[in-house]
Amino acid sequence: MDNLHFDCVVIGGGISGMESALTLGDMGFKVLLVEREASIGGKMILLSKVFPTLDCSSCISTPKMAATYNHPNITTLTYSEVKSIERLEDGTFDVKITQKPTFVDPSKCTGCSQCEKVCTVARIDQFNEGLIARRAIYIPFPQAVPKKAVIEKKGLSPCSNSCPAGIRAHGLVALIRNGRFERAYERHMEDAPFVGSLGYLCYAPCEKHCTKGKRSNKPVSIRELERFIAEKRIGAKPNNNDDGLPCEPPQGKHKIGIVGSGVESLALAYFLCIQGHSVTIFTGGKELGGILLKAKQGGHLPSYILKNDIQGILSKGINVEDIKPASFKEILANGYDVVFTEDKSYTSEDERIFRPETVVEDPCRIVLGIQEAKRIARQIHLFLEGKTVTLKESDKTTGRKLFKHGHYETLPKEDASLRPLLSEEQALEKAMECLDCGSCSECLECKKACPAGAIDFSMEPTQLNVKASAIITATGFKLFDPSKKKLLGYERMPNVITAMQMDRLLSPTRPYNAVLRPSDGKIPGNIALILCTGSRDKTVGNPWCSRICCMYSIKQAQLIMGALPIANVTIYYIDIRAFGKGYDEFYEQAKGMGVVFVKGKVARIEEAPGDDLYLYYEDMERKGGLKRAKHDLVVLSVGALADSKITKAFKDNIPQLNELSFFKEISEISEPCLSNVDGVFVAGSASGPKDIPDCVVHAGACAAQVASYLKSRDKA
Ligand code: SF4
Ligand code: SF4
Repeated sequence: MDNLHFDCVVIGGGISGMESALTLGDMGFKVLLVEREASIGGKMILLSKVFPTLDCSSCISTPKMAATYNHPNITTLTYSEVKSIERLEDGTFDVKITQKPTFVDPSKCTGCSQCEKVCTVARIDQFNEGLIARRAIYIPFPQAVPKKAVIEKKGLSPCSNSCPAGIRAHGLVALIRNGRFERAYERHMEDAPFVGSLGYLCYAPCEKHCTKGKRSNKPVSIRELERFIAEKRIGAKPNNNDDGLPCEPPQGKHKIGIVGSGVESLALAYFLCIQGHSVTIFTGGKELGGILLKAKQGGHLPSYILKNDIQGILSKGINVEDIKPASFKEILANGYDVVFTEDKSYTSEDERIFRPETVVEDPCRIVLGIQEAKRIARQIHLFLEGKTVTLKESDKTTGRKLFKHGHYETLPKEDASLRPLLSEEQALEKAMECLDCGSCSECLECKKACPAGAIDFSMEPTQLNVKASAIITATGFKLFDPSKKKLLGYERMPNVITAMQMDRLLSPTRPYNAVLRPSDGKIPGNIALILCTGSRDKTVGNPWCSRICCMYSIKQAQLIMGALPIANVTIYYIDIRAFGKGYDEFYEQAKGMGVVFVKGKVARIEEAPGDDLYLYYEDMERKGGLKRAKHDLVVLSVGALADSKITKAFKDNIPQLNELSFFKEISEISEPCLSNVDGVFVAGSASGPKDIPDCVVHAGACAAQVASYLKSRDKA
């Protein structure tokens, strides 16, 4: 797609963006639609019904989404952001777009959701307005277009990132939290052996960097959890080292001889063996374990733990010879491709002989020995594949700079090995403390579960550069954040919700099967809707009317009465603005259904017994004065705010904004949809709050303006 030329780039895949793109596409123009979320559809697809007709919102949106995505003249880029727009001398635009990595190959993903079922991390579901959680890997919503999974991943969590040996500590914690203890052990073995020894001895840089530790001085006890999974496994499978990794003696692409018996030798043998090489350790008659034997003798490491760790390594199919070969040359002469010696001072011109840069001498630092073994395994692997070996290249094993010895204190302040073992319950409790810093934990459960093999953690952001003759900004609006009105208690009181949350509760794809209040899952019986929350309110800097809140609240009141026939519904309003076609009738219909309208401005909300709420409001209709009313659920009908941060992408010729920070049209009456910049147009509520029918009409008008502009350019 790079360097392609489009007639028009439409920014925003909501109802207006789709309408403009479809109209232009039908006229034969080539359109690129760029949407920042993982699905097109915008806010409309998440609504219950539309006013005043009460048509099903997703029944209208879904066919439009499918038509847009499958249109031969429309290319749709989801999970992508326009980063810069530059107007060129010939009047066209140079548009730079970043496609965020989804870590799921869209050409393979079938949308089967198997990955979601096994994912170990829960995140707030933004598509359900935070009413429920979704998984770190998720398909945005049931009617998503495209229906492809996406992984929410914010880099690597600090614990995983700080492990010198590249052990994904966050993944282990997440698996343990989900009660998958056996799998946590296997996941550790996929990254590194010596699970139990690390749990007893490691100086734990992961805990030092744990965000929870930084916030509360008590990090997640990763080392104790490592000990727990090692002990648990020994208890469950005393004589079985099957951790799901290859354990048949590999026939071996190459034969590798290792001279040594310490941590580096054992770990190197392990990594090379699971890469498919045939490995023999020559111990020279020494007991296997190196410095770990010292730890065992000193009483810091139980012998059964060390025995299990060594067995776990050898069970991969490693040969052990007690002899000491006369020389490395003799080993090579006996058909070995490469030899490794633990002796770091050994020097040789023969590039087939490898040695470590460092050898750990402190049992607390065996993780550094494992890191070194991983690095050498990569070096040997590259060498055997005929590739140039440089230290820099092999450092990529763990993806970060090598840690230097002496970087941390010898022992962590509190020695986990001195504490009693965790019970299953305690382990779950400790693992629950994790904050899921990087979102995805890299537990790799999704990779195992995906039948299509679509999970791909090597994905990186892609930069695209396209040319366009015209630009449409269809970026919509954002909703007022009601936590700014502190006295209304949003986020402090669970039963104060927003109108968008209520729409999710009423939608056919709702999170629960009924309208329930968040604090206790009770069906509410006395619901209040407060209009003009964050609109017509100078105290929060939004003095304008949002145009849609009166009507969507009246719609919700009617739907609530349908869903909860015995519930009382009260709307608190300043004045009702029912200005559109059929709106006044819709308002009268609500009154006729029994919705109570109270002309009164709500000043504050306080908690009442039983999770109920007291509303304090100024009665503007009757005798006046401050009144108090009790409700069991309060819905804040939040206003619409401008979302015009896309202007930052314009390098020059920046479209003007109006006094409300929405995109300014040259003239709403005579030149709708035209910005002050030649070739840049605005569609839908990006130019000001509009209801859905107005958005569709405006977006259609915008497409007509663009078509006329493109034709006039062709003639010129
Ligand atoms: S790696 Fe684990 S946490 Fe990450 S998305 Fe897959 S299953 Fe979820
Ligand atoms: S809070 Fe969890 S994810 Fe974050 S650093 Fe600590 S253990 Fe790792």
